[in-house]
Amino acid sequence: MYDRDLSEEQRLMRQSCRDFVDEVVLPFIRENWQREWSMVPEDRLPPSILEEADKIGIRTLGVPEEFGGVELEPGTEIATFAMIAEEIARGDSGLADKLVQTWKVSVLLRQLAPRHLQEKWFPQLVQNPQFLMAHCLTEPRGASDRWLPYNVPEAAMQTKAVKVDGGWVINGRKQFISNGYDASLYVVYANTNTKVGMMQGTSSFLVPRDTKGFAVTRCNETLGCRFMNNGEMAFEDMFVPDDQLLVKDTALGSAGVYFRPGKIIQAAKNLGVGVRAFEATADYVQNYVQGGKILIKHQAVALRLADMATKIEAVRALLDRASKAVDDNAPEAEVLCNMAKMFSSEEIMKVAQHAVELHGGNGIMLDFGIEKVLRDAVIFLHMDATVDISKFKIVKNLFPDTAGKYAGPE
Ligand SMILES: Cc1cc2nc3c(=O)[nH]c(=O)nc-3n(C[C@H](O)[C@H](O)[C@H](O)COP(=O)(O)OP(=O)(O)OC[C@H]3O[C@@H](n4cnc5c(N)ncnc54)[C@H](O)[C@@H]3O)c2cc1C
Repeated sequence: MYDRDLSEEQRLMRQSCRDFVDEVVLPFIRENWQREWSMVPEDRLPPSILEEADKIGIRTLGVPEEFGGVELEPGTEIATFAMIAEEIARGDSGLADKLVQTWKVSVLLRQLAPRHLQEKWFPQLVQNPQFLMAHCLTEPRGASDRWLPYNVPEAAMQTKAVKVDGGWVINGRKQFISNGYDASLYVVYANTNTKVGMMQGTSSFLVPRDTKGFAVTRCNETLGCRFMNNGEMAFEDMFVPDDQLLVKDTALGSAGVYFRPGKIIQAAKNLGVGVRAFEATADYVQNYVQGGKILIKHQAVALRLADMATKIEAVRALLDRASKAVDDNAPEAEVLCNMAKMFSSEEIMKVAQHAVELHGGNGIMLDFGIEKVLRDAVIFLHMDATVDISKFKIVKNLFPDTAGKYAGPE
C-alpha cells in the first residue's frame, strides 16, 4: 500500500510488524538457517515466534473484538491484511503462511459459522498463541478442477460425507494443506451429493484435530515456505455432529468470502518475498567489489536492479488496486484479485532470480541465505491455483460468453 493512503492505525500496525520482522524474525532466520531443514517439523520454528506475533496482535486478525480478537476497519480490512502479510513475508514467508491461513479461516467462521461455534472456538484461538487453523480443499486428484471450476459429477470431491443420525460420517484424504501438520482446527470440504457438480454438492465442516477418525498422515517437505508445515490428512469413518456443519451443498460458492481475500494475501506475501530479495541485493551490490568497483557501478548490474525495483512497484500498484476492489466488493474484484495473484507470482519469481544471480556463487549457498527468496518465490506459482488456471479465470471473467470452460467438452 502506498504510504500516502495509510491511515494512522495502519501506519502503526505496519511499524510494529517491521520491528517484529527486523528484531525477531530476520535475526532468528539468519542465526538458525539450518532449522528450516530439520526433518522434525516440531523443531523448525520455536513457539516463541508465534508468541511474539501474538503480542503485536497479528495472529487473531479477523476475529471479532467481542471474542478478544483484533477487528480491522471493515472498509479497508483486506488492504490491511495485504499490508501485514507483505511485512511478515519480508521476514519469512512460511511464518506468514501460518498466520494468514488462520486469518482466512477466522473470516470464514466470522461470516458463516453459527454463533455457538464462534463462542466455542474464537476464545480458544485467542487464548493460545500456538492455536492455528487450516482449510482443507485439495485432494490427491487435481485441485485445478475446483478452481476452474470443472462442475460435473465425475469431477466431484473424492472425500465424501454421508448423512447419519445426528451428524455426518466423512471418509477421504486431503493433501498440500498449509498449517496441515500443526493446526488445531480444520475446515474440511466434502462431497454431500454425488449426482451433481461440485458447486451444488460440496459441504464444509468444522473439524477439531482430536476428532475420532481424523489423522495427520504426514508433513510435506516443501522446497520453500518450509515453516508453514504443509501437511496431509486422512478421515476414516470420522463422525462430525450436525452442529459442526458450516455450509450444506453450496460451500464452494460461499467460500468466496475468503477465496478473494486469499488471493490478495497470496500476492501480498509474494510481494514481501520480492521486497526482501531487493533489499538484500541492494545492500550487496553497494558493498561488494568486482572489477575495481562496487557492483552497482557496473551497468549490467544497474539494469537488473532497475528491473527488480520496477517489477516490485508494478506488483504493488496492481495489488493495491485489487485489494481496494475486494474491500469495496466492486464488480471487477474477481478479475483483479486473480490478476494480482498471477502477476505477482510470475514477476517476483524474476525478481528472485535476479537476486540470486547478482549474488554470484553466494547466491546459491544455503548459509548465505539469499537462495531462500528463490525457493519461497517458486511456491507461489502453485498456491491458490496455478498460474495457468489463474489466467483461465481472468479470461473467463473478461469474456464470459465466448471463453469456454477450459475443462471437459464445451
Ligand atoms: C505450498 C502449497 C500450499 C497449499 N496450501 C493449500 C491449502 O492450505 N489448502 C488447500 O486446499 N490447498 C492447498 N494447496 C493446493 C493448491 O491449491 C494446488 O496445489 C493448486 O491449486 C494446484 O493443484 P494441483 O497441485 O492438484 O495441480 P493439478 O490440478 O493436478 O494441475 C497440474 C498441472 O496441470 C495444469 N492444469 C490442470 N487442469 C488444467 C486444465 N483444465 N487446462 C490446462 N491446464 C490444466 C495446471 O495448471 C498444472 O500445471 C497448496 C499447494 C501448495 C503447493
